[in-house]
Amino acid sequence: MTVEAPVSHLRENPYDIAREQLRRVADAFAIDSNLINVLSECKKSVVVSIPVGMDDGSVRVFEGYRVTHNIARGPSKGGIRYHQDVTLDEVKALAMWMTWKCALMNIPFGGAKGGVICDPKQLSELELQKLTRRYTSEIINEIGPERDIPAPDVGTTPRVMAWIFDTYSMNKGHSVLGVVTGKPLQLGGSLGREEATARGSLFCIREAVRKRSRRIEELRVAVQGFGNVGSFLAKFLAEDGAKVVAISDSRTALHNPNGIDVPAAFAHKQETGTLEGLRGAETITNEELLILDCDVLAPCALEQVITGENADQVKADIVCEGANGPLTPTADEILEDKGVLILPDVLANAGGVVVSYFEWVQGLQEYFWKEAEVNAKLNDIVVRAFNETWATRETRQTSMRVAAYGVAVQRVAEATTTRGLYP
Ligand code: GLU
Repeated sequence: MTVEAPVSHLRENPYDIAREQLRRVADAFAIDSNLINVLSECKKSVVVSIPVGMDDGSVRVFEGYRVTHNIARGPSKGGIRYHQDVTLDEVKALAMWMTWKCALMNIPFGGAKGGVICDPKQLSELELQKLTRRYTSEIINEIGPERDIPAPDVGTTPRVMAWIFDTYSMNKGHSVLGVVTGKPLQLGGSLGREEATARGSLFCIREAVRKRSRRIEELRVAVQGFGNVGSFLAKFLAEDGAKVVAISDSRTALHNPNGIDVPAAFAHKQETGTLEGLRGAETITNEELLILDCDVLAPCALEQVITGENADQVKADIVCEGANGPLTPTADEILEDKGVLILPDVLANAGGVVVSYFEWVQGLQEYFWKEAEVNAKLNDIVVRAFNETWATRETRQTSMRVAAYGVAVQRVAEATTTRGLYP
């Protein structure tokens, strides 16, 4: 029997894409090419091997990465991804995007990302714990509250963050709350962190809808992905009065032009682990979801789902990048030409890292805030960043993406120049 290698979702090299975006922004904003050469590279990439004793008695060796892109504006920050398609170049791209995201939000962090090549759905709880603790111990000299602070990303959860926190703390001999964010509430997590990425996307969509002189209540929304971002975004938009006409997870996609019962979908996913079998909607494919007749499309799963092949079929008027890098540069161009308003990832999904910042601050101070306070401060930061991006888009006559990246890259460039090159 021949076993076909699984096809990666990455059709193009994400790091090439990230560097190309940087070059475009450098041209548009006339940023010094010497500086761009520095910012095109990642400061440090660590590759580790992670041997894990499996439940069946065998030993499997996984490969993991932790990449720091830039620390000019503060310690590096970024999630850890557990996925079978992880590559070093993907982690580098995601680390670079974290630098821009933190700079655009004007929070005092640089950018980093981690990843382990594994399918967490195929691992037992014990195997997952062993993998996480060994990975943490392999990168223990890279991370720390003043150095590099991990968080959840695709395939990792608050539970995983708790193991990272515990492994690091056991090695230091005392609890170090600031070493990781996205922790469970009972272990120094922040209220509002779990929903934060989706809430940030919601705030951006609200602003965008206002700019388009429309009302949320008249919108039909399609959300791809029902993980941490997509599920809460669908919930929040439905609560705001929008009609969520389609949702999906990695196994299925569902469509109902009259609106999907989002609370029922939540309950079903919680109970069965999948959206499969949810009643009251027609089954479609993930590809069909992206080209559905709707007003807002929110790709909240993985990179490169809208490409040169399907971009011209997208019908939405607003595309909100809940995921990192869901549009390829070709798709970006096609949609821009069609007049679609694209809310780029570094703006639209930055709510997560903003509340991670709040969690880090609360942990360092050992003083915890009310949820309403967290959400209000999140709103302030995201709306300010939206308005700065919008204003730059208007004055420069450019796209939201180039404007957002431009504001961010300029901030990092300024910090780098002011600090000066060492030695
Ligand atoms: N992984 C999330 C992101 O891509 C959150 C990172 C963080 O909270 O540090 O923005």
